[in-house]
Amino acid sequence: MTTASLPIDLCARLDRRATELGVTRRFVIRNPATGEPLAELPDLGAAGARWAVDVAAQEAANVPSIEQRRQWLSVIEQTLLDRRESLGRLITLENGKPLPEAVAEVVYAAGFFGAAAACCPELAEATLAERARGCAWRVRRRPAGVAALITPWNFPVAMMAKKLSGALAAGCAVVMKPAEQTPLSLLVAIEAMLEAGVPAERLGVVVGRPEPIGRVLCSHPAVRIVSFTGSTEVGRWLMAETAPHVKRLALELGGNAPFIVFQDADLAAAADALVANKFRAGGQTCVCANRVFVHEAIHDAFLDHLRPKLEALRVGDGLEEGVDLGPLIDRKGWEKVDRHVRDAVARGARLLLGGDAPRPTQEWGAFYPPTLLTGIQPEMAVCQEETFGPVVAIASFRDEPAVLEAANAGIHGLAAYLFTRDPARAERVVDQLTFGHVGVNTGTGPAPHAPFGGMKQSGFGREGGLDGILEFTDTQVVATADA
Ligand code: ADP
Repeated sequence: MTTASLPIDLCARLDRRATELGVTRRFVIRNPATGEPLAELPDLGAAGARWAVDVAAQEAANVPSIEQRRQWLSVIEQTLLDRRESLGRLITLENGKPLPEAVAEVVYAAGFFGAAAACCPELAEATLAERARGCAWRVRRRPAGVAALITPWNFPVAMMAKKLSGALAAGCAVVMKPAEQTPLSLLVAIEAMLEAGVPAERLGVVVGRPEPIGRVLCSHPAVRIVSFTGSTEVGRWLMAETAPHVKRLALELGGNAPFIVFQDADLAAAADALVANKFRAGGQTCVCANRVFVHEAIHDAFLDHLRPKLEALRVGDGLEEGVDLGPLIDRKGWEKVDRHVRDAVARGARLLLGGDAPRPTQEWGAFYPPTLLTGIQPEMAVCQEETFGPVVAIASFRDEPAVLEAANAGIHGLAAYLFTRDPARAERVVDQLTFGHVGVNTGTGPAPHAPFGGMKQSGFGREGGLDGILEFTDTQVVATADA
């Protein structure tokens, strides 16, 4: 099998680079629903990473004008929108999510380029009003240099778009490292960006086993910033690897989001929002509700709203029409979900729906049904760790201080949601939640124009909005003495 099975010139280019570098190791990308091999790519390893950084370093020396960057971002936005269907199909093929969701992901990704383009004028050099010490003071936002961008498989195009849009707007050249399960849709997206006129040297990409590549990205002197989305464990590894080289990091790590339904909430709206939030990407997102806290007075009424919605969800191949939930990314993902459900039941939780999937016999075909658990307690694995699967785990609570304590417990601080009709309560709770993103009467996750990122061990650094661009800049101040 060769990459010729997919019409991706960039794959052929990566193959040529592998030949030049003497790299022979290869890896296969498979459809997680069927196991069908989609393509084979070279594992470019440390040599490929060094090559990509060296090329990007040369390109980084040419700082494009802000207007040039704005134009690139705008054409990328349009290019992605134009290809939403074909890119969406490829996302479904390699990631498994239902096709409408995959197409929506491309639109979401495009939005980050549009939002970054809109912010570009704010990057212009500014002169401070105050003339201290007989000087004029200018503040300049310079590109930080080469940015290494590392992303996971759950949003193969959008996760990179969040980083790339900020880095390009800042004027950086990048080296992108997509997840080994889902590099293809990103490669096609990059190809579209090249056709739109962004220089190839500015859009470096390297694929293969993560650790050898990661070691180069963390230590190469030309890399100034490593922006990563993924597990807390790998985030810690990156911190340790980059520390001797004093590189900047932006880390978007695990979530374990609380979703709180107070007794005065609109229960139908809360149930709708929970289903939309929880089952996006089959529950494999870092912002999806992992711990659902429902006030004891409305616990059963809320279940009456929720349960039929879960029963109506259809599981299957994401390319089939009417499918709401694709497969989990692989057997390892399935094992974690299964472990969480079994652990909860063993510790006294009630299993109301699901939890009965056949164990996958291969790495693929890891389908898991929508699952509903009640009686969740803090010591259960489903409460302690991100489940990353279609499990709604409900705990009941008695009062506001107790639910706040439970919601804020643990190391994570990425996203939280609360439902109440009382605006004063909403403000009080928002003030006390230690999460970087809070939805009030909505289950919506991040949006391109707003800065998104974590508190506590969910990481630091922001993506989206102006903050997501400044992440990739160095601020230079110039004090010029009055003549
Ligand atoms: P997940 O568990 O969601 O796959 P990971 O944190 O393992 O999350 O992976 C997220 C991204 O980080 C992927 O692109 C993966 O290849 C990459 N990655 C994993 N380990 C390393 C590493 N040691 N160095 C660099 N990248 C890594």
